[in-house]
Amino acid sequence: MGQARQRGSLEQRQQAAVDRQLALRPKFITCNHCQATLTEMAAVDVSALPGITAAFEASCTACGHDTYAIKGEPEAVARLHALIEQAAGGSSGAGVVPAANKG
Ligand SMILES: [Zn+2]
Repeated sequence: MGQARQRGSLEQRQQAAVDRQLALRPKFITCNHCQATLTEMAAVDVSALPGITAAFEASCTACGHDTYAIKGEPEAVARLHALIEQAAGGSSGAGVVPAANKG
């Protein structure tokens, strides 16, 4: 501890990023559509997203709505939400992180 670690291989760094993300994983995401409690979620690769610390996607089995939990700088989070909404075609829209899960 305290010493700067040498850069590992790309693989090691990716694994470290995954570990970091898992540490931030919320216990659950509340579906923004039907308020179901979703405990199954997938970590989103945020290595190419500056300002985003971690992001998780949960697909609601009850209504099929995708809800995202995103952690990071507020501006970056807002930008990512806008991207997700665009990708969703604007019809379904992206959810927002439940207040209880916000950092
Ligand atoms: Zn739902």
